[in-house]
Amino acid sequence: MLLTLIRRYSKPYLPQILAVILFQLASTIATLYLPSLNAKIIDEGVSKGDTDYIWQTGALMLAVAFGQVITAVAGVYFGSRVAMSMGRDLRREVFRKVSSFSAKDVNAFGAPTLITRGTNDVQQVQMLMLMGLNFMVSTPIMCVGGIIMALQEDLSLSWLVWVSVPVLVAVVGYLVVRLMPLFRSMQKKIDAINGVLREQIIGIRVVRAFVREPYEVKRFGAANKDLTEVSVKIGNLFVLMFPAIGMILHLSTAAVLWFGGERVDSGAMEVGALTAFLQYLLQILIAVMMGTFMAMMIPRASVCADRIGEVLDVEPSIHNPAAPVTPAEKKGRVEFRDVTFKYPGAEEPVLSNISFSAEPGQTLAIIGSTGSGKTTLVSLLPRLYDVASGDVLLDGVPVTELDRDEITSRVASVPQKPYLFSGTIEHNLRFGKTEATEDELWAALETAQAKDFVQEKSAGLNRRIAQGGTNVSGGQRQRLCIARALVTQPKVYLFDDSFSALDVATDARLRRALKEKTRDATVIIVAQRVSTIADADQILVLDNGRIVDRGTHEELLETSPTYQEIVESQLSAEEVA
Ligand code: ADP
Repeated sequence: MLLTLIRRYSKPYLPQILAVILFQLASTIATLYLPSLNAKIIDEGVSKGDTDYIWQTGALMLAVAFGQVITAVAGVYFGSRVAMSMGRDLRREVFRKVSSFSAKDVNAFGAPTLITRGTNDVQQVQMLMLMGLNFMVSTPIMCVGGIIMALQEDLSLSWLVWVSVPVLVAVVGYLVVRLMPLFRSMQKKIDAINGVLREQIIGIRVVRAFVREPYEVKRFGAANKDLTEVSVKIGNLFVLMFPAIGMILHLSTAAVLWFGGERVDSGAMEVGALTAFLQYLLQILIAVMMGTFMAMMIPRASVCADRIGEVLDVEPSIHNPAAPVTPAEKKGRVEFRDVTFKYPGAEEPVLSNISFSAEPGQTLAIIGSTGSGKTTLVSLLPRLYDVASGDVLLDGVPVTELDRDEITSRVASVPQKPYLFSGTIEHNLRFGKTEATEDELWAALETAQAKDFVQEKSAGLNRRIAQGGTNVSGGQRQRLCIARALVTQPKVYLFDDSFSALDVATDARLRRALKEKTRDATVIIVAQRVSTIADADQILVLDNGRIVDRGTHEELLETSPTYQEIVESQLSAEEVA
């Protein structure tokens, strides 16, 4: 997966990558050239007292060093730019993919891991690209070139290279192998922390209300400790790694000086050659170390790439039909034909054999005990889920054959849990129709009985809304969500228990105003309160996923024992009478 991702995301940057490779090539060659120039100055210039030679070679050396710096900086500059751009593209792709997910797809992963995958995992892959671009070319050339140059300086010291390099590879390799599983588990622990944190932040009010802070603190503490333990283990290995590498480098230096010194003494080697040999050996060792580090990043990035790939590879369970049907009329007629629905992984269907139709200009109400499937039923029309069998039709066309934009432009739903986005009230109201005029916004607010509290504050439509709408009351949030739906002027309204947080008087006023505004639309209301739906044209009584009775309020009062039960539990005796 890692290779696939890198191949796919590097494509737009091939020219830049080529430039990076060339810069690195130049800078590596310059780096390799420097010690041999140094040796020449010492052996040919200094030892023979040839000042001209020293000046000339010194100038050359300065020029090469300057070139090395320039090309190295350019290489790192472009390499970093490319790596960051690739990371950005990848992140954008993950975001796009997740945005196309249906509720079912999001549930299959879980929100916290999707967040980690889109942020931390992408970061790891990006990090590898950065390292790769910065060292991919220089490391092997440095290794091979270093060895060749070192051997040119002195063949008989070559055994030092053959000993020190494998020792370094063995030590670093051993540590890397131990680190790998730890990195893998670290990624999981980060997921866990994200999960706990997210749940606690979202549920902060509940946590407070039930005085669960100590428990939650403990729960977070446990996840935090887990992550810390893994990080400490990783840290411990790193603590070992750097001194070990240092020791190998220093021992090698000592060995070169020791054995090289003997050769210089006996006149078999010159001092300059010895210095150059030493520099080459260190260059080789550092290159090997960088190579090993990079090798170490590969498995970690590869785990992350797999996790990203899993997200990118998901075929969203609900996608647009290849050849969407355009309905002949767009009135907003809704029909369910023998619909059965089961949540993924559930044994029993939540809805069975649901058939009904809702006509434009009429109000259809759905009532039933909690868990009877009301929310599920209304989520089938905007295709949050697809049915197991049967058909959900909008204007006579199954929703699976309609373009999703076509559905969203005609169906507006007000969800049970009203959700607002961070931004202003205006920004939220325009969510479904960006081009709405200010008058339209105010009209919608008026119908939703939200005008007063928006006007109350001097900021008006520009009042800030916090993420999730947590800085307005539950009832205000509900009304803003209703207004948001009204702004789009849809053909079908789905109100899922959208009046529950309103007092009875506001509820009544709101429905009266709504009736005016939604005269031609199909209105489907899910409600708990009988008073909310008593004037509906048709009421479906849902029990255990089945429609047990249907009719108007009056009819049901006569015929439906379930409805009577609900009514009796809610209304006082006089009201029933
Ligand atoms: P209601 O709106 O009438 O209270 P719902 O439609 O929310 O009922 O739920 C009906 C049943 O479906 C419940 O038993 C609930 O446990 C189950 N259910 C709801 N949402 C999901 C889901 N996302 N995954 C699995 N089961 C679910």
